[in-house]
Amino acid sequence: MENLLRTLHQALGPDSGLVLVGGAVRDLLLDRPSPDWDLATALLPGEVTSRARAAGLRVIPTGLQHGTVTVMVGARGFEVTTFRGDEVYLDGRRPESVKLGVGLEEDLARRDFTINAMALPAGALEGGDWEASLVDPFGGREDLASGTLRAVGDPLDRFGEDGLRCLRACRFASQLDFEIEPATLEAIPERLEVAGKVSVERVMAELTKLLCGLQPGKGLSALASTGLLRLWLPELLPMIGCPQNRYHAYPVWEHTLEVVRRTPPDPGLRWAALLHDCGKPSRKTEDAQGHIHFYGHEPVSVGIATDILARLRASGALARDVVALVAHHGTHPGPDWGDPACRRFLKRLQDDGLSLERWGVFRLADQSGKGLGDETCFGEHRALMSRLEALAQAAPPLHVRALAVDGRALMALSGRKGGPWLGELQSHLLERVMDDPGLNEPDALAALARAWLGERA
Ligand code: ATP
Ligand code: MG
Repeated sequence: MENLLRTLHQALGPDSGLVLVGGAVRDLLLDRPSPDWDLATALLPGEVTSRARAAGLRVIPTGLQHGTVTVMVGARGFEVTTFRGDEVYLDGRRPESVKLGVGLEEDLARRDFTINAMALPAGALEGGDWEASLVDPFGGREDLASGTLRAVGDPLDRFGEDGLRCLRACRFASQLDFEIEPATLEAIPERLEVAGKVSVERVMAELTKLLCGLQPGKGLSALASTGLLRLWLPELLPMIGCPQNRYHAYPVWEHTLEVVRRTPPDPGLRWAALLHDCGKPSRKTEDAQGHIHFYGHEPVSVGIATDILARLRASGALARDVVALVAHHGTHPGPDWGDPACRRFLKRLQDDGLSLERWGVFRLADQSGKGLGDETCFGEHRALMSRLEALAQAAPPLHVRALAVDGRALMALSGRKGGPWLGELQSHLLERVMDDPGLNEPDALAALARAWLGERA
């Protein structure tokens, strides 16, 4: 990366004032991989373009109105943005216009948090003591060291300009395991109206990053305490303060945060963890002994999850994955289940496109997130998974397509044309081979089919 940057710096010249800026500097100081390397320069976009082209580099005018061009160095694109100040914000998301030709300090002042408002001269990165060259007018370095998220300037003003920043604060709290400093945190509830103007696509992207962060519980708690949860995920509010039963050490919301934390940082698993029990509050009942139950909460969770993901315009693939995980989180084959029942369970997972492995990963997070002791939970989980894996390994037929006789053979055998009877017969045969996979061979199936047809003649 440093080599590519040197090529770019040479192309733009030493008077370009080229700096690495924003999140890339933050991530470099945290020794964390950065998803993108943003660069800023004193040169105007036209000058960046002509100098880069003169040096034989390809230039794509990505966002000229914001002062951004992408310069390709080999296969790698660098976004180079002219130092800019933001003019007035009217729509709660973007400045009406940007002012080019300002100094680096003004460029840093428009950024959201102190930890995102530092710059590092490209020349310093190419060797030498680069940390001494850090441009840090707002104390970002110190806030990075103490794990603090602090708005640049007055947080009420900054969240009033752009509502996305409220959500970014919660997202970074999760991703970096940082604390939002009090004035910054307290400004969020005052600016919910502006936050409400953020497009659902951005909300979805930020919530997903928040969920997949290092400490998602921190980000989710910040969403809840500031009113952002009420704004974007109001269906989840009843989980807060909803008590559980003797199978759980935590109330519903705290259990949810535990499960999110315990699932691998994958969007489908984390969204499913957040939503799996959202149907519980409305299904809560108490029996004569005072025990709490949540009968039938899974389909209610599925309904709420489906609505939320549609509203946030989640991709179809993500929604299907989440819904399958939520739908199957409540049923766990027990030691008292026979092999046929376990095979039927494998079939239900397969029908919903959920692998046994993924179901198991989610189940372990859910079970261990009940807070009743990891030791017994892990042992029990391993035993169940070994049993299900062994059954799955034998590749039992779990779909009519896997039957050893096809529809055509069954029609020939019966002398009848296709019709609803055929599907019924195939389902019957599938049920029998799930009871006993040894029956899945042509002669045995033909005998079963004849018997079934005979009963119906
Ligand atoms: P990541 O790339 O890890 O998602 P980031 O902080 O780098 O996080 P980008 O969207 O890449 O986020 O933005 C790069 C930089 O631009 C930020 O570090 C910050 O300095 C500035 N920035 C981004 N979004 C905003 C915003 N809404 N308001 C103010 N400054 C912003
Ligand atoms: Mg970035």
